[in-house]
Amino acid sequence: MPYNLEWTKAILQTAQELKSPVILGVSEGAGKYMTGYKTIVGMVNGMMEELNITVPVALHLDHGSYEGCLKCIEAGFSSVMFDGSHYPIAENVEKTSELVKSCHEKGMSIEAEVGAIGGEEDGVVGMGECADPNECKAIADLGVDFLAAGIGNIHGKYPANWPGLSFETLAAVKEKVGELPLVLHGGTGIPADQIKKAISLGVSKINVNTECQIAFAEATRKYIEEGKDLQGKGFDPRKLLAPGTEAIKATVKEKMELFGSVGKAE
Ligand SMILES: [Zn+2]
Repeated sequence: MPYNLEWTKAILQTAQELKSPVILGVSEGAGKYMTGYKTIVGMVNGMMEELNITVPVALHLDHGSYEGCLKCIEAGFSSVMFDGSHYPIAENVEKTSELVKSCHEKGMSIEAEVGAIGGEEDGVVGMGECADPNECKAIADLGVDFLAAGIGNIHGKYPANWPGLSFETLAAVKEKVGELPLVLHGGTGIPADQIKKAISLGVSKINVNTECQIAFAEATRKYIEEGKDLQGKGFDPRKLLAPGTEAIKATVKEKMELFGSVGKAE
């Protein structure tokens, strides 16, 4: 999530250092926070040039509305996710199909969603659902580049009684959609063995956000609780935000190692 300069820098530098491709996922809420999608496009493009980032980087809208996708296509993103999972399947198919056309005309990739992913994201609350494999096939056939299918995953922190991912659903979806890359949302809090199994069954994009937020907040709190902002010029935002930035780097590194993307851009 490129919420601000520090997050973006931390993610890009880590990806470059580890020779890993990376997707910068932006929610509509984060886009608003950043004053608009054009601000993000400008920041990311400028930073990639100034930092000599050579690994593949996608700038991707996460859980976009139809209108949000159109705005990002216009603003210069390289990828969007259209989340039509809350529409009846026929409407999801229709809207996804239109956006596939718009994206591919611009050489962009598009992710679609079937079966709402539980938890809360930007005020949208869903219950952990499992996607219908036949609906997945209907959306896959529209020519989307990747597909997010609910397999019991949820956004945010997982409850203690969470039953785990439904590998049965994942396998059934995979069977229907063939080689189409699948996306696992809500990557924070899924045990490593389940992540690895999901990857082995066709998941090739994993969204992680909450874990970076927690790491950033913890490091920043520690800095302030230790009174470091009161020492010298410790109140300088460049110093104040440095521990959080380092914490994001460490989290991103850990995830790239777990997901197996390290060295893939060499
Ligand atoms: Zn998501």
